Amino acid sequence: MRLPTTIERLYLDFDGFFASVEQQADKNLRGRPVGVVPFTGTVRTCVIACSREAKAMGCSNVMTVEEAKRLCPDIVLVPQKPDLYRRAHNALLAEIESVIPIDAVKSIDELTCRLDEHQRSDPQALAAKIKATLSEHVGPFITCSIGFAANRQLAKIAGKQDKPNGVTIWHPYLMPDPLFKVELEDIPGVGTNLKRRLNAMGIVDVQGLYRMEPKHMRKVWGNVTGERLWYALHGYDIQAPETNRGMFGHGRVLPPESRSLAKAYEIARLLLVKAARRLRRAGYYCSGMWVWLSIKDGTWQRSLTMPMVHDDAAILDALRSVWMQAVKSLPKHTKIFRVGVTLTNITPASERQMDLLLNDDGERKRWEAVTKATDALNSRFGKTIISVGPWQPPEGGHVGGKIAFTRIPSAEDFM
Ligand SMILES: [Mg+2]
Repeated sequence: MRLPTTIERLYLDFDGFFASVEQQADKNLRGRPVGVVPFTGTVRTCVIACSREAKAMGCSNVMTVEEAKRLCPDIVLVPQKPDLYRRAHNALLAEIESVIPIDAVKSIDELTCRLDEHQRSDPQALAAKIKATLSEHVGPFITCSIGFAANRQLAKIAGKQDKPNGVTIWHPYLMPDPLFKVELEDIPGVGTNLKRRLNAMGIVDVQGLYRMEPKHMRKVWGNVTGERLWYALHGYDIQAPETNRGMFGHGRVLPPESRSLAKAYEIARLLLVKAARRLRRAGYYCSGMWVWLSIKDGTWQRSLTMPMVHDDAAILDALRSVWMQAVKSLPKHTKIFRVGVTLTNITPASERQMDLLLNDDGERKRWEAVTKATDALNSRFGKTIISVGPWQPPEGGHVGGKIAFTRIPSAEDFM
C-alpha cells in the first residue's frame, strides 16, 4: 500500500445543497431560513435540507417540521424539486469539469478529483478557481466546501471542517493533529452503533481510534471496512479502482462571430469530439449526453439518452438530434453566448455490453473501428487530420475568443 507524501485528492461537498439550489433559483428565498420538505401541507414530515439561515437558528437536516418551526418560526418550507436539483447537479459538475476532471461523483452533492503536479502545488488557487467558476456561471448562492488531503477519505473529512464555503488543506506533514480535533461520529463509517461499541471499549475520540491496530479495527467493524478505515486515517492511498467516474465535458464562451445557432453548432461539435476523445483515452463508454446553451434570458438545456457508445459517429448523431430540438424551440436569431457539451452515464469499457434491443452490433463495431483508426492517426500526427465531418476550429485556433474558464488540458486537447 502506498503512503503519499503530498496532497493527492480533492473532495468537494456543496453546502446545504437542496436549500441553496432553491435560493439560487428563487430570489425570494435568498437570505431567509429555508427548509426543504418532501411535500407541503402537513407538519408530519421532516425537513430534509435547510439553508444556512435556518441552520443558524438551530435547525438541522432530518428534523421534524414541528421541531424546525419551534426553533425557527419564520422558516419557509418549500417542497423538494428533484428535477431542479438534478439539473443543478449537471450544471455544477460540468462547470467543475471545465476546471478539473472529476474522478468520481459520490452523491448528488459530493464529488472527488485527483490532483496533478501543478494542482498539488497550489490547492488554494485551484479551490478559488472552482468556486469562482461556479459562482460566475451557475450562481453565487450555491457554495461548496473543499478538502485536500493524501487520500479521498481524509479529504472528505477535511472538507467538513470549514463549512460553509471553506477550504481545508491537510498536508501529510500536518497529520494527524488536525484529525484529532474531529468528533468521533464525524468520521465517515462511524455510525451510532459503532460509536457505542467503541465507547464501550474505552475509545472515545479520534485519537483513540487512530491508535488502534488495523486488525483490531477489522474485528470491531466485523469486516475489512474497519481495516481500510485505519489505513485511510493514517494517510495511505487505499483507493479501490474507480468505476463510477462522473462525466466528460467541455464548454466555452463563444466569440462574437460564432453566436448564431448554426455557428455555435460547429463549436459544439468540436467540443464534443474532444470530450469523446478524452472518454476513449480513459477507457470509458457513455450513454447520456447533456447540452447547455447560455442565452440572453438564461440557459437552454437538454439531456439525451443514447445506447452505450463511444464512437464519434454515434455521439455526433446524438448532438444533431439535440440541436434540432434547440432550433425548433428557440427563436431563429437567438444569440448563444456559451455552449457546453457533456457525456454522462459513464461505464468502463470492460463492463460495456452491446445494446441487444437496438441490434446495432454490426454497425456500431464498424464505427468503433473507424474511430479507433482515426484516434491512432491523429495521435501519431499530433493534430486532427481526420474527423467525422468538418473540422474547422473557430478563428484564432484553439482559443476562439475569451475563454472564461479553462481546464488543465492535456496535449491531445490541442489537436
Ligand atoms: Mg453537502
